[in-house]
Amino acid sequence: MKKILLTLLLFPLMASCQNNKKEAIKSKIYAVEKTDAEWKNELPRMAYQVLRHEATEPPFSGIYDKFYEEGVYICAACNTELYFSKDKYDSNSGWPSFDRGATENIEFDVDYKLGYARTELKCNTCGGHLGHMFNDGPRKTTGKRHCINSAALTFTPTADE
Ligand code: FE
Repeated sequence: MKKILLTLLLFPLMASCQNNKKEAIKSKIYAVEKTDAEWKNELPRMAYQVLRHEATEPPFSGIYDKFYEEGVYICAACNTELYFSKDKYDSNSGWPSFDRGATENIEFDVDYKLGYARTELKCNTCGGHLGHMFNDGPRKTTGKRHCINSAALTFTPTADE
């Protein structure tokens, strides 16, 4: 009888642990976490759509597509340093392209939205969607192309000394 009682008591606990485990795998906890309503309220419309709902801005429409000033590109949502002007090149794809990023600040995820695996790039601090990585980058350097939505970034110029 005691055994049955113990099992009855433990079963919901075990089930709840398993649920928590599934939840942990499904969504990572980021250093910056906000509700969808909070993000929607504080981000410009396009930044919100790209960063929080994985939208893609139309090609050749973003402000940083043909933009080559010297400086740093930070996350438009949480200000984390993500890309540097020295790594930017013209891929003529219609989106800002970099041959590398600030690796420790970028999360490399997998996205199956088009029916096949693509490497999705996210801000590792807030989980915001940035774009995708492809293997058709400059062969002389990394061979990688970080194809990034302008709306996900904020450019900060290098200060003149
Ligand atoms: Fe961020």
